Amino acid sequence: MRHDAHGYWIEEAGLEGTPSMPALTEDAEADVLIVGGGYTGLWAAWWAKREEPGARVVLLEADHCGFGPSGRNGGFVNSMGFNLPNLRRIFGDRAAGEMVHAADASVEAIGSFCEEQGVDAWFTPAGYLQASTAPFFDHSWEPIVAACEGLGETGRIEVLGEEEVRARCDSPLFRTGAFYPVAATVQPARLAAGLRARIIEAGVEVHEHTRVDALRDRGGKVVATTPGGRVTAGAAVLAAGGSLLRFRPLRRALTLTSSHMVITEPVPDVLEELGWTGGECVTDSRHMVHYFRTTRDGRIAFGWGGGRIARGANVHGRAEVDPDMTAQVVAHLRRFFPQLRDRAITHAWGGPIDVSPTHLPLVRTVGDRSFAGFGYTGHGVGPSQMIGHALASLALDRRDGFSSLPIVDPPRVSVPPEPFRFAGGAIIRRAIIRKETAEEQDRSPGPITRLVSGIPERIGIHIGR
Ligand SMILES: Cc1cc2nc3c(=O)[nH]c(=O)nc-3n(C[C@H](O)[C@H](O)[C@H](O)COP(=O)(O)OP(=O)(O)OC[C@H]3O[C@@H](n4cnc5c(N)ncnc54)[C@H](O)[C@@H]3O)c2cc1C
Repeated sequence: MRHDAHGYWIEEAGLEGTPSMPALTEDAEADVLIVGGGYTGLWAAWWAKREEPGARVVLLEADHCGFGPSGRNGGFVNSMGFNLPNLRRIFGDRAAGEMVHAADASVEAIGSFCEEQGVDAWFTPAGYLQASTAPFFDHSWEPIVAACEGLGETGRIEVLGEEEVRARCDSPLFRTGAFYPVAATVQPARLAAGLRARIIEAGVEVHEHTRVDALRDRGGKVVATTPGGRVTAGAAVLAAGGSLLRFRPLRRALTLTSSHMVITEPVPDVLEELGWTGGECVTDSRHMVHYFRTTRDGRIAFGWGGGRIARGANVHGRAEVDPDMTAQVVAHLRRFFPQLRDRAITHAWGGPIDVSPTHLPLVRTVGDRSFAGFGYTGHGVGPSQMIGHALASLALDRRDGFSSLPIVDPPRVSVPPEPFRFAGGAIIRRAIIRKETAEEQDRSPGPITRLVSGIPERIGIHIGR
């Protein structure tokens, strides 16, 4: 098994060894500066050039565009239907409806981009199945069903009985479930590489291996400092994922955890046996979610959102390669699919997850002319297109449907400062895992576990979707 930070997708897309764009070596000027070349930054660059082809757009990426979480995630392209109860609670009914429609459109826009731009990112709009794996989880989707009913959003979620769930994917753990039709899968590294190629063709100046060390407002402009030179820009888009924690104004705006994945050798016979040939992406119903999908070459990619909390903005190290977590993920995979007992796991990898206290992505205005997009909480593939578009509109000073989305500058919720964020987060994470393991085994979690796992909600930090 190959276990490293890059994982399977980057290798499959043939990106290893691809020449990077030259690093910045002198001072430059831009209308729009973009910091970070994951999906958020790439989409922002794409939309900035689409909206204003004459604008000078400069993108600075610390490594190679798309080699961060954007190139190595699960490839679930979700809308925000499962966020509806949370969206309603925070923004009210009208704005919740607006958000979920914008997120639907974002999923569609990714498919249209791939088709129109000839990007073969394996975009497969086959929907998302959420399954229950224990009596405790049998009704997990009821708040979502109620929210859909309340908003007149018919057809957004379909409740399934056990037979219907197992007809889609016959894991012995599955009980009842819910199906969300607006969802797709992609090969994430192919999508990132396609976006990178198209923005370069569109005339975005991309400098890779160029880390932005500081950003400040000066005389109505934004100045970014890198080891090779400064960029002075009319506006900046901050799209550095979990590394945004390094930017002082955002230190209390997010926390950082990690997720780890493995992928099997091609197992088309197992997929046939499971009846899992429709291309749906699937999860269980835990907060520390297990997520899995098939690939075009007949593999099962399987991940767990129960990775460790990262200290500060330390996105490397155990956030990416964590042998202990990987051993757990392999064991979980074989519990969901005992048929894989003797099948090889070919790759393992992981990455940081930028978690917002509301568990909803957001755009935050920072200083005079900088706009940050983050907080995807493990669900960035679909929404990043919409957030990138909002960031481009804001940076270009355009007032449109994207720059006025409800998640642009929402009411502030802060996470506790260090050392409480890391130490407290680690204790709470362990309590949630203990609680959900007990629930999965039809046991009652002890009172202390229940108390500790409930702390986030009591201090205004949402856990779950
Ligand atoms: C294992 C795993 C599985 C996941 N599965 C899914 C999934 O199935 N579906 C889903 O929707 N989401 C999933 N996610 C989350 C998803 O990958 C992210 O939400 C999404 O990629 C965020 O994109 P981004 O562009 O905001 O950040 P990133 O992809 O983190 O990109 C940020 C970029 O900024 C660069 N950077 C950082 N600091 C600087 C600096 N100072 N200067 C310049 N550049 C800098 C980084 O090198 C990086 O390339 C998963 C994440 C992981 C780790």
